[in-house]
Amino acid sequence: MADGSPHAAVKTTCPYCGVGCGVTATPGGGRVLGVRGDADHPANLGRLCSKGAALGSTVGLEGRLLQPRIAGRPAPWPVAIRAVAQAFSRTVAEHGPDAVAFYVSGQLLTEDYYVANKLMKGFIGSGNIDTNSRLCMASAVAAHKLAFGADLVPGCYEDLDLADLVVFSGHNAAWTHPVLFRRMEARRERGQRHVVIDPRRTDTAEGCDLHLPLAPQTDVRLWNGLLADLMRRGAVDRGYVAAHVSGFADVEAQLNADDQSVHAVAADCGVAAADLETFFRLFAETPRTVSLFSMGANQSAQGVAKGLAILNAHLATGRIGKPGAAPFSITGQPNAMGGREVGGMANMLAAHMDFDEASRARVQRFWGSPVMAAGPGLKAVDMFEAVRDGRIKAIWIMATNPAVSLPNASRVREALSGCPFVAVSDCMGDTDSVAYAHVALPALGWGEKDGTVTNSERRISRQRPALAAPGEARPDWRIVADVAGAMGFGDAFAWRGPAQVFREWARLTAYENQGRMLSLGPLATITPDAYETLAPVQWPVTAGGGTARLFTDGRFPTPDGRARMIPVAAAGPAQPTDAAYPLSLNTGRVRDHWHTLTRTALAPELGRHAPEPYVEIHPTDAAPQGLTEGRLTRVATAQGQAVVVARVSDRQRPGSIFMPMHWSAAYAPSGQANPLVAQIVDPRSGQPEFKHTPARVAPYRETWRGFFLARTAWSPPKGTEVVWRRIPQTGCQLHEFAGRGDEPEREALRQALTRGAGGDRLRYEDASAGSVREAFLAGDRVDRVFFATAAGALPPRDWLIELFAAPALGAAQRAALLVGREPGTLLETGPVVCSCRNVRADRIAAAIVAGATDLNAVGEATGAGATCGSCRPEIARMLSQIPALEVRDAA
Ligand code: SF4
Repeated sequence: MADGSPHAAVKTTCPYCGVGCGVTATPGGGRVLGVRGDADHPANLGRLCSKGAALGSTVGLEGRLLQPRIAGRPAPWPVAIRAVAQAFSRTVAEHGPDAVAFYVSGQLLTEDYYVANKLMKGFIGSGNIDTNSRLCMASAVAAHKLAFGADLVPGCYEDLDLADLVVFSGHNAAWTHPVLFRRMEARRERGQRHVVIDPRRTDTAEGCDLHLPLAPQTDVRLWNGLLADLMRRGAVDRGYVAAHVSGFADVEAQLNADDQSVHAVAADCGVAAADLETFFRLFAETPRTVSLFSMGANQSAQGVAKGLAILNAHLATGRIGKPGAAPFSITGQPNAMGGREVGGMANMLAAHMDFDEASRARVQRFWGSPVMAAGPGLKAVDMFEAVRDGRIKAIWIMATNPAVSLPNASRVREALSGCPFVAVSDCMGDTDSVAYAHVALPALGWGEKDGTVTNSERRISRQRPALAAPGEARPDWRIVADVAGAMGFGDAFAWRGPAQVFREWARLTAYENQGRMLSLGPLATITPDAYETLAPVQWPVTAGGGTARLFTDGRFPTPDGRARMIPVAAAGPAQPTDAAYPLSLNTGRVRDHWHTLTRTALAPELGRHAPEPYVEIHPTDAAPQGLTEGRLTRVATAQGQAVVVARVSDRQRPGSIFMPMHWSAAYAPSGQANPLVAQIVDPRSGQPEFKHTPARVAPYRETWRGFFLARTAWSPPKGTEVVWRRIPQTGCQLHEFAGRGDEPEREALRQALTRGAGGDRLRYEDASAGSVREAFLAGDRVDRVFFATAAGALPPRDWLIELFAAPALGAAQRAALLVGREPGTLLETGPVVCSCRNVRADRIAAAIVAGATDLNAVGEATGAGATCGSCRPEIARMLSQIPALEVRDAA
């Protein structure tokens, strides 16, 4: 067991995205953890992206929940466990099993997920357990089940190497799955072609062979148009369809009911007919095609239809189960797949079994459970609506932050604040959701956990502990098992360690298995030692080992062994734009952050690329509103409004805007995207429509603005209406703010932020510009800095931030404090491109102008792009846009 002292390297798995990169973690004593990519792990072969590379910066104890709390006060574990058990038992006794719910997470390990699912579905007797994976890939799950008979991802990462054409459908791999993207970039240099279907010109689209910037929610029309074109060209694999697919004639008839000419499809999708024709031809001519689809397809009221349209094209051409040919849903979370496997979704029972009588009886026999859930439970959005209207009276949230991440998140906050009992188990103590907990339970974090995760290619990998459990934190599976014990179910939850849980889980996959492809049979007897050393393996696991790709024999787990092609009709957005809300709001991720910032904000280097919430908008939409780059902008929808910084860019499609979803009340109370999103879901998958909400924009028109630097984080004083963003830095916290009030508002904030500051005070005031600058020193060190102005300029923050790391200020630094910049130095003010080396756009542009003509030359000149490589697409874009100086011989 890791004790935090320096010892041998531990092989584990990155906790962020669904690529599931192997990580070698080397404890350096205390909470120090060296991190590098595991060259032996087949998912990444030693590579890590910026997030994975910064894992060592996120394992400190800042913000950790280290003791159970009841009503905000520390409590012993037995008391906290009893409180949760009693609340759930009492609620079930008084109101029935469907009055309670678990909302769990793709951050949980498979063992955690298994135990939570067993307790809810087999012992409490409700289907009310759902996962935040509902927000990322529930539509793909539903499409897989309809087309293949089970939630099965056919392909593997090797297919990405073998493909001659990769189609990215609503998938910004360069930012969301960077290590896979780099793998494909390498193939591209050897002839692989990339087509990107995305309304935004993302970094994935930037250097691709063909970008189709389709209008929002026209994906089904485009993929149906492709299939119709394949039929016209005779590119359908009639032999494969005849042998292995049902439903082709129905799909053909449905397509024939519409005008599927290239021009009609192109007009409806808002793309150039010539480009669409090029895509259709490329697809038809390239047998080795992989179609990746992710959030851009899934997060939609038509998410299932989009998935089915993609699967239809692959089934019709027989491009499935073959090397380099597959439709490939890429998951967002590290263990979204593990949750899908065990039954962490409300509409699946367990181990790919549904709620039919035979499956319920089988699982009940296996578990020896007293009562089984009668049917599916409530999916995420419906679950919190049920909390809000009182049908659910006790909820347990595990390892996720729904107060930030669910659509119309303000309603979720209302629901939680009115719920009679809320338990939250989390490794962090100050998330927006923990704030609503009657009982908060400290869980282990990454680097401490022990169990397994499954990545996007069905590969099970171990997460192993490299650090000792801090404080009183415990594994999630054990917390759930202890509560189950306190509810009277101890015998069925009496595991001694995660290996035992895993064995039981593996046995369930094999139990009375007459055709379920999800099977871990040979691992059902795994010894503790073998579990400890378990190498990454892809399910189905057979006596011969793992399985790279599925359906190689053309057989599918349906009653007749055939895949199903299912007609899907193109439909417009569930909520069209109108005069009041003329723009389509699309939300998503940025390159270097993860989910709701609870962990990536602990690594200041990850905040440099996108330091604060923003809205990206096309110049033609920005200009009529008077919006310019960097200006504070109000984004409003029917659900709410936010104030964020404008980024004006032609990479955005006219009529569409984009906001990242990461920022929470803890970091930017007025910069949150999800409270703006409507609670519209796909009717089959329950996945919310995060990619299209009608919206409008307008300038915020602040009357003053400023920033505050301090060694600790501050929140805006209660009652202030200032726009507030906190940006963690090394050695201090940067708080940016702006307001629409007058001088008293500014002065009230200054007083609140500088109250109690001791030591020397330096002050400068310019009444004509409404400017105030103050700095407070503690001995020779800078302690707080407050700059605000109504009409003047503010200096760049970098130099002042650097001073917080200085052991003592020199006389020159002290004299320049209120100027905000070191005399005689040139400041770089452009955005950070390379987070690893902190290289700004200015320096990269200078290198290009000076003659760096490719990525390697830029790397040699500046260091940018030479570490994890996540910024290489952005540097490539700069290379294509900035002409090098023509150097002429003066003679
Ligand atoms: S691509 Fe990055 S975030 Fe995803 S698993 Fe690999 S290192 Fe982690």
